[in-house]
Amino acid sequence: MLQRTKEFAQIAGDAASRADATGSIDQAVWSALCDTGISMAPFSPDFGGIGLSDPNQQTTLCAILRLIGGADLAVARLFEGHVNAVMLVSRYGTRPQIESLARSVKQGGLSGVWGAEDAHGLRRLGNSASWLLEGKKILASGAGVIARPLVTVGSPDGHILYLLNLEAGKRADMSSWTPLGMKASASGTIDLTGVIVGPSEQIGDAGNYMRQPFFSGGAWRFCAAQLGAMEQLTELYCAQLRARSRESDPYQLERVAHCAAACRTTLFWVEEAARQFADENLKPAAIVAFTNFTRMVTERAALDVMECVQRGTGLSGLMRPNPIERICRDLATYLRQPVPDMAMSDAARAVLAGELATGALL
Ligand SMILES: Cc1cc2nc3c(=O)[nH]c(=O)nc-3n(C[C@H](O)[C@H](O)[C@H](O)COP(=O)(O)OP(=O)(O)OC[C@H]3O[C@@H](n4cnc5c(N)ncnc54)[C@H](O)[C@@H]3O)c2cc1C
Repeated sequence: MLQRTKEFAQIAGDAASRADATGSIDQAVWSALCDTGISMAPFSPDFGGIGLSDPNQQTTLCAILRLIGGADLAVARLFEGHVNAVMLVSRYGTRPQIESLARSVKQGGLSGVWGAEDAHGLRRLGNSASWLLEGKKILASGAGVIARPLVTVGSPDGHILYLLNLEAGKRADMSSWTPLGMKASASGTIDLTGVIVGPSEQIGDAGNYMRQPFFSGGAWRFCAAQLGAMEQLTELYCAQLRARSRESDPYQLERVAHCAAACRTTLFWVEEAARQFADENLKPAAIVAFTNFTRMVTERAALDVMECVQRGTGLSGLMRPNPIERICRDLATYLRQPVPDMAMSDAARAVLAGELATGALL
């Protein structure tokens, strides 16, 4: 799978600048994701995958997310959302629901998790046999492309997940998606008013979606994708220093050292977070706290790498078509994840409460 991911990453990387310019990922990239078996990989072998969501495969998943993140962060975001959706359906869904999603992925479809809402939110009106959705999802990656998203709907008993079957291209409004980077992730608004859902679309029980450690602990995956972009920036920086015969300058060497150390530090944290995510012997609070620290470390390291690379390449790193220009825009945008202050301060509280030791020997 890693070899196939490298081949896929080459295809996605070659198409990345065009995707950024047009705001849309080439169909050839989606076809390659399907043909290489990567989109089916998160399903268990029973459903045609290789069990990439299984606890013992999280380190492989980490490597795959890094490779795709290094090729095109927008593709990595969509793939990460797809993996999250398949994991949720596999964990909480019924056999027919998993089979139904696996069938559409085998035919080239993708899933994703659309949780973010505007102030009005997404509601359900009706009774338990059949509900009418009313409202929108915002910042929905793959809006207009993804036909089988998982959407969250609030209820008095907690969030409920519905696996929808949408007509791709319908209901999407991209007018509000005007970001600095990650344009090709197509994270637009979807109006779900009028969609009917019932027990056959409902995945699991109310409250399953936010069950810990899976809800917050899964954040290691976007850190892995971001790390892939950091590693790619460092490689490009070194290559451009060599090309300009600037690699022996002591100030440049210091920046290269900072980039290499930042990437490797992040790798240690992200790989350990992936390992802990799958460790059933750990308490959920400890897993969540460790992941929250991983978010904090990854964000700081990514900001440091971008600063070093931009200062070290100068204006040329801010000019198209230098890929450093695009990757920095994508990474700066993708780093903006929900409630970073809360993630950091909750992790600190967990240390104070004795839920997470600061070292293995303590
Ligand atoms: C490329 C991309 C793709 C995305 N795709 C999806 C998707 O497919 N599905 C989906 O559901 N979402 C998606 N999102 C949205 C994502 O999950 C988050 O909702 C979004 O990134 C939040 O960003 P924010 O900076 O506005 O976060 P915020 O949480 O608003 O944070 C902004 C700042 O405010 C602080 N803050 C937060 N709350 C408070 C408060 N109450 N009081 C004081 N300070 C506060 C934070 O710590 C931070 O400093 C995507 C986002 C991006 C960037």
